Amino acid sequence: MREPFRNEPFTDFTRSDNIADFQAALMSVESQLGRTYRLKIGPDWLDTSAKAKSLNPSHIAQTVGIVAQADTELAHQAMLAAAAAYEKWKRVPPAARARVLYKAAAILRRRRHEFSAWLVYEAGKNWAEADADTAEAIDFMEFYGREMEKLSECQPLVPLSGEHNELIYLPLGVGVIIPPWNFPLAIMAGMTMASVVAGNTVVLKPASAAPVVAAKFMELLEEAGLPDGVVNYLPGAGSEIGDFLVEHPMTRFIGFTGSKEVGLRIHEKAAARQQDGKWLRRVIAEMGGKNTIIVDEDAELDAAAEAITSSAFGYSGQKCSACSKAVIHAAVYEDIVERVVERVKSLKMGKAMEQSSAMGPVIDERAYRNILSYIEKGRTEGVLIHGGGKGDSSGYFIEPTIFKDVAPSACIAQEEIFGPVLAFIRADNFDAALDIANNTEYGLTGAVISRNRNRLEQARTEFHVGNLYFNRKCTGALVGAHPFGGFHMSGTDSKAGGRDYLLLFLQPKVISERF
Ligand code: GLU
Repeated sequence: MREPFRNEPFTDFTRSDNIADFQAALMSVESQLGRTYRLKIGPDWLDTSAKAKSLNPSHIAQTVGIVAQADTELAHQAMLAAAAAYEKWKRVPPAARARVLYKAAAILRRRRHEFSAWLVYEAGKNWAEADADTAEAIDFMEFYGREMEKLSECQPLVPLSGEHNELIYLPLGVGVIIPPWNFPLAIMAGMTMASVVAGNTVVLKPASAAPVVAAKFMELLEEAGLPDGVVNYLPGAGSEIGDFLVEHPMTRFIGFTGSKEVGLRIHEKAAARQQDGKWLRRVIAEMGGKNTIIVDEDAELDAAAEAITSSAFGYSGQKCSACSKAVIHAAVYEDIVERVVERVKSLKMGKAMEQSSAMGPVIDERAYRNILSYIEKGRTEGVLIHGGGKGDSSGYFIEPTIFKDVAPSACIAQEEIFGPVLAFIRADNFDAALDIANNTEYGLTGAVISRNRNRLEQARTEFHVGNLYFNRKCTGALVGAHPFGGFHMSGTDSKAGGRDYLLLFLQPKVISERF
């Protein structure tokens, strides 16, 4: 009997042995920076003349890796390789497929700090955020392995006399996986390995801002014994190969996590029937969020301030779960604003490689400019009470920025900024606070900080988000404990790390036999 799933514990960075081990991993990864990475199609690692550089956002003069870039011809080859591998992989028993995930999880556990160090360099995650990303990748593989084993057991059906009925889950076919740069290990591995354990094969197009972590994961999958062609690694510009992959006649499903704009485009393209297209493509999309923490008049104020600070500024606000709207009951508004500003003043912004860095850079030039333009907009929409400026110009640093007295309809209260920018909004009462929280096209996460049971019960039904948290932060969902995904423009209502997630990568078949 396999032991029940348990979340991988986080590394305790107050311990000197862990600090020393992590520093050693950072040094080892630093010595490997600037290498070239090839595509992997079927058994072949292929070079291309087109290349893209992946930079360290904390120190942009440092190249993390130089990565081959696929064109549509190579994308077609990758689809063919995935389709060929599918014929064999779909026949591998689910338990054997699950064992590849357990093996990959075991290797990742052993090489945990090394992978986290790559995340520090490539994604600009501080130590704790990088460590949590790696832990989540391990969790996804352990969790989905077990879920697939359960789904391969006999499924309960109502008995009929004289007939034997059976329901089995079949894989879908070839999928295209388009992960985000903000969880370039956890979400990349999660979407890829959910597909694979279900018996599908995939073309993995890693995020352009974080392709090296995915290349390292490909090496790990080889070591874990995953047959060639089951996962094909296809870095390339979205503008060059994105639509091509989505519209390819062999694409049966698309797993995507990223922006609303790209998600909508994929959804639309995937829906169109191609010439020779045999199926209605499935899209599993996790898109953006505009997430609110509500603070009620009787809330524990320090706990509320802490929840807001970590949800808004953890990983520089670059989580789709991040809090970017804090809606505060008028009775405690000034008090909460002050406490959050006090906390944020002590957040040390610094290069992600440094252990003391509480907040690192934003991911790239485009994000940097975009966030700064939202800050400019914010100056006209609210009162800037903290930050607003750039940091150390050797990286993409932006100060944690707080606006107060923002109107619910303001741009910075409506649009996903995906950066360290927080808007405070005053609410006259709890009903108004809920209205302001729900006044968004998204529906991903939200939190309520309150001691009032009736209000929590009210929020339970009226606060319409996929992940609703009470008296805690709204980031940091744990696999299995907090299946993750939201409503409306936040995606296709799927729940990563939940018991029904694998069903999205499967199709049920019923077989009835009379004897
Ligand atoms: N699951 C993550 C969390 O709960 C967010 C994932 C994302 O940003 O896509 O914080």
